[in-house]
Amino acid sequence: MSDCIFCRIVAGTIPAKKVYEDGDVLAFNDINPARPVHVLVIPKKHITSLATAAPEDTPVLGHMLALANRVATEQGSPDGFRVIINTGRVGNQEVPHLHIHIVGGPDPVGPMLKRL
Ligand code: AMP
Ligand code: ZN
Repeated sequence: MSDCIFCRIVAGTIPAKKVYEDGDVLAFNDINPARPVHVLVIPKKHITSLATAAPEDTPVLGHMLALANRVATEQGSPDGFRVIINTGRVGNQEVPHLHIHIVGGPDPVGPMLKRL
């Protein structure tokens, strides 16, 4: 998937500010942060979205969520954070490589969604 921007970050062919990495996942700062803490956690394996994740992807999905508190705390949001997973057209997903957004403080991130 060399045309996938996040696969290229995994491969190291485009730069990112990495904040965590292991054999299965990579976390890096969002290039256009919406809050003081804004980290993306991705599987190193290309998975397009939650809509296309397979049953065998369940462990890496759990691993990504289980890392969220550690990443948020280390990056400066120790009193909580929000996880967002935009999915597909209705979810306004812009990058078609599954990622969780970890957004955080120090101040509260605000209401969940603006009501229609
Ligand atoms: P989404 O709308 O959930 O697909 O969000 C995609 C996110 O990826 C946005 O918040 C972008 O700012 C971020 N993004 C896009 N390109 C890069 C990049 N090269 N490095 C870091 N973050 C990026
Ligand atoms: Zn990819």
